[in-house]
Amino acid sequence: MDELPHFKPTALDLLREPIETGEIAVIRARYRAVFPSRSKLIAAMNPCPAGRSCKEHTCRCTTSQVQRYQSRISVPLLDRIDLHVPVPELNQELMFAAGGKEPKNNRHTPLAELREQIAMAKQIQVQRQGCLNAYLNGSALAQRMAEAGLTSAFLTRVSEHFELSMRSYHKVWRIASALDDLDKATSIVQRDRTDARKVLC
Ligand SMILES: [Zn+2]
Repeated sequence: MDELPHFKPTALDLLREPIETGEIAVIRARYRAVFPSRSKLIAAMNPCPAGRSCKEHTCRCTTSQVQRYQSRISVPLLDRIDLHVPVPELNQELMFAAGGKEPKNNRHTPLAELREQIAMAKQIQVQRQGCLNAYLNGSALAQRMAEAGLTSAFLTRVSEHFELSMRSYHKVWRIASALDDLDKATSIVQRDRTDARKVLC
């Protein structure tokens, strides 16, 4: 969904149910039909309503314009989106050096290699727990965190420090678990509060 805030807020909020339950229920009078609706939601939005005509550090929009634009996406919907990725403006030097083409970045992993890593991570998840991390419920996640050696005192501290809702709390550990599965050179480790901030941001 490109330009997410341009969709009607009422339509956007209808996404909450299928994201959460993987199903969508259509209710008319005495009839109720439930349809499977497991999907991946990928959405993009600009940081301000003027979008491309505004520069990252010299945005000319007023605070209330920006707030109104961003508030079109409700907090409950944002809460259900696992990864929020800020995309910084493209470096002008890089852009010109590439002669108008998309600049190559040495840090990019080739797509074929990424696909292989993801397939392997999914296989690890299914072998370990019979489903993907995305479908782990609260108690299964708690068990996974305990197996990784994370104490409940640490989990509580992180939750309090970042003021996480229960949904965000589960989301963080689902992502930590996915990162762990993607990169077998690392594993979920418990760090102190300062390090945890770095890891989680
Ligand atoms: Zn702006």
